[in-house]
Order: sequence, then structure tokens, then C-alpha cells
Amino acid sequence: KTVCVTGASGYIASWLVKLLLRRGYTVNASVRDTNNPKKIQHLLELDGAKERLNLIEADLLEEGSFDAVIDGCDGVFHTASPFFIATTDPQADLIDPALKGTLNVLGSCARTPSIKRVVLTSSIAAVFANGKPRTPEVVVDETWWSDPDFCKRAQQWYMLSKTLAEDAAWKFVKEKGIDMVAINPSMVIGPLLQPTLNTSSASILNLINGAETYQNAVVGWVDVRDVANAHILAFENPAANGRYCTVGRVAHYSEMVKILHELDPTLHLPEKCADDKPLVPTYQVSKERARSLGVEFTPLEESIKLTVESLKEKGFFK
Ligand code: NDP
Repeated sequence: KTVCVTGASGYIASWLVKLLLRRGYTVNASVRDTNNPKKIQHLLELDGAKERLNLIEADLLEEGSFDAVIDGCDGVFHTASPFFIATTDPQADLIDPALKGTLNVLGSCARTPSIKRVVLTSSIAAVFANGKPRTPEVVVDETWWSDPDFCKRAQQWYMLSKTLAEDAAWKFVKEKGIDMVAINPSMVIGPLLQPTLNTSSASILNLINGAETYQNAVVGWVDVRDVANAHILAFENPAANGRYCTVGRVAHYSEMVKILHELDPTLHLPEKCADDKPLVPTYQVSKERARSLGVEFTPLEESIKLTVESLKEKGFFK
């Protein structure tokens, strides 16, 4: 079987390509620049790449540029979307590539009759950003939707981009009769395959690279290998449908610091919280649907350990 992975050089997508090749798939992988070794070398070195990996250039904002990548495929994993926080032009930097890019990729799918299913990499950012209270008793699940107006008021542009993109995707596939499943991961950590630093791995690097304080914030964490696996299970299981929150554990940054200290007491870790307010309370995210797909969650301690080892090995800190 041949499948397409968009944005293949990214953190999650690199793992997805690796696991797909391991399972015997032929992978048509889109990258923006096939001449940049930092974006492709680690993919070319994967087991099976020589025989079954095709790298093809495509840009989210170039209408129709995914036709050639998707042509002849049985399925599409649409992961490409910018993930960063700081921007002075959210529309151009985040919202257009997320929203127009998703519709661009889905447009190519609609023109390709061999496509049986699309797996969309959405985010928990499209689920919980709605201002509803989150306390230890609250269980966030797939019925939750982020509220674009809330995201705008809070100037959470990345969250807005993911919410608008997933919402538009569901409307488009319904109209065109495309079978789609969405994966909604929280902050993804774990070993890096690519040599460059991505935003979610940077959240761990920031803690071990000399920061004096940690944020007073609670974050859902999940291992990159579990997220890649969830995508494949969602593609292969005919019964898969709708959205799947993939969140291993919700933890405050203070807990992350504690785990890091237990893993390696020589790490230079932040000792205090960035503010004097009470610690933001934790909340739960339902694992029911993810587990029904067969997703298993790596313990947070292991994911943190492998992230740190990987960041060290790649030279991001000493
Ligand atoms: P990365 O930054 O590692 O990867 C993003 C990918 O998107 C890159 O391959 C990048 O290409 C590609 N991309 C960005 N803009 C464009 C564009 N205009 N045209 C073509 N490709 C583009 O991020 P992640 O692996 O972390 O994220 C992958 C997906 O997972 C995204 O959809 C993100 O929203 C989602 N996600 C990530 C989470 C996380 O914690 N990491 C959590 C939840 C969801 P290039 O390499 O050329 O820049």
C-alpha cells in the first residue's frame, strides 16, 4: 500500500514515516525543500527508505501542489502545519497555512479516487480552548471544541489556527464524502529523529537550559511514538471514526521539574514558579477512545528521559 505523509520532515511526521516504512508501506512524503539536508537526511537514513520512500516537494499555500504527492495513494496523513507561538502576523504565519493548507490537501484528496481515508493531525488545541473551567474533576473529551472567539480574545493564534483548520476539514469531507479521522494530541515529547529543534521538544529544553523559573501552567503530555502509532491505528482500523484525543498525562510544570530532578539530580533546573499565585490546577483528558483504537501510552517519566537524552545527543545542551 502507498500512503502520503505531508510535512514529513517534522517531529511527529518523521516518526510516522519511520513506523509506516517499518510496517511495509510505500511512503510519498512531502517536504518543502528537497535540497536541505537538515530536512531530509534523517528520512533517507530510515530502514526501508531506499526502497519505499519518495520525497516530493509541496507547499501548503501553493494550490494543487499536493496532487503529485497524493496521486496513486490509498491514504493521506496530513500533518504539515506550522507550530510556533511567537508571531507578529498570525494570519500569514499560522492561520493561512493551517486552514488554507488543510483545504488544499483535502482538495487533492477529493480529486484522487484511490484515497480511502485521510488521517488529520489536529491538536488538543482544537478541543479545550473554550474558557470552560478545568479542575481535577473535569474530564475533557472529544465532544469538546475550542471556541475561535475565545482563542482570539486570548490571542492564542496557534490554537485558533488548529481549531479553524479542523473545523473546516470536517465540513469539507462531509460535503465531498471523504472518510477522515482526526488525531488530537497534547504537547508531544520523546526522542527526536530530526536534527532541528521543534516547539514541543523546546518546552523540555527550556527547563534544562538555565531557566530560573517554570511557568505556572498545566500541560497534557504525550510520547511522539504513541502519537505516530495512533495515526497508523486510525488509518488501519476500518471502525475508526471522528476525533481521538491522545494525551498520556496532564502535569503542571512543577511536576515536570520534579521528574527531571529525579531522573538526573545534576541538571540545572528552575527552582521557582514564574508567579506567586496558587498553582494552576490539573484536569483530566479522556483516554477511552484512544485506548479503544489500541493506543498505549508511554509513562511520562520515560518520555522525559528520552527527550533529554535526545536533546543532549543532538547537541542542544551540554
Ligand atoms: P514540526 O514543526 O516539527 O513540523 C511541522 C511541519 O509542517 C514541518 O514539516 C513543516 O515543514 C511543515 N510546514 C509548515 N508550514 C508549511 C508550509 N507552508 N508548507 C508545507 N509544509 C509546512 O511540528 P510537529 O511535528 O510538532 O507538528 C506536526 C503536526 O502536529 C502539526 O499539525 C501540529 O499542529 C500538530 N501537533 C503538534 C503537537 C506537538 O506538541 N508537537 C501537538 C498537537 C498537534 P518544514 O520542515 O519545511 O518547515
